[in-house]
Amino acid sequence: MKTKYPPCRSCGKKDLQLIISFGRTALADRLVTHEQLLLPEITAPLDLVFCPSCSLVQITESVDPEILFGPEYPYFSSVSPSLLKHFRDSAEHLIEKRGLNSTHLVVEAASNDGYMLKVFHERGIPVQGIDPAQAPARKAQENGIPTLIDFFGKELATKLRTEEGKAADVFLGNNVLAHVPDLNGFVEGIRIILKADGVAVIECPYVVDLVDHCEFDTIYHQHLCYFSVTALDKLFRRHGLFLNEIKRVPVHGCASSSNRWNVWAGA
Ligand SMILES: [Zn+2]
Repeated sequence: MKTKYPPCRSCGKKDLQLIISFGRTALADRLVTHEQLLLPEITAPLDLVFCPSCSLVQITESVDPEILFGPEYPYFSSVSPSLLKHFRDSAEHLIEKRGLNSTHLVVEAASNDGYMLKVFHERGIPVQGIDPAQAPARKAQENGIPTLIDFFGKELATKLRTEEGKAADVFLGNNVLAHVPDLNGFVEGIRIILKADGVAVIECPYVVDLVDHCEFDTIYHQHLCYFSVTALDKLFRRHGLFLNEIKRVPVHGCASSSNRWNVWAGA
């Protein structure tokens, strides 16, 4: 049983314990074109497991991100007015609290159509968006938000920091951490891109809500990890980052009824 699953996505230990198996399921949120209707649906195993070593709840299968979030990924963040207001408020709070101005840099992974970076951009604060989904990223570019069409991780962070001299005062990652197959590479990327006094603001669904509200329908292939504070703390500490503020943020009107944690990690 213990050798059945791959190592933990966070700590690498191999004693993951099964919570629930959904068998093989089709990939959720994968809108197909008219032509694709005639093709067989892609399916993959969906097993939810718990790591007793670092307490991370996770699924064992990693579907290729190019399939999940590739060129046809249809999600535009700007279509949800309640989410737009939430992230505008969050950005304005950050600007005030950190005293951000034209000498600072805000970097966002999974910046989508620039829905949050535009708040900083409007105030003359330099921004750098990063998103692998071409349609939303192009929309951001058209709106004047510098956006790289790429996956954020250790490699890209190193390139930005060493080759382009970009160092972030603020790093944003909204609802992306749970989607990242190379979890440690992503967090190491945050460490690399952040200035020594920088701050990363991460929003992700909270595993306790999943349990309390029986949100089993939020378990699907896009969501690789289901974070508790304990699991996040161990993950960030491994990369020399620490949680210095945690907020529980109710986001109304989004697809999931989950509250979300706003997690800050300072180098
Ligand atoms: Zn673990």
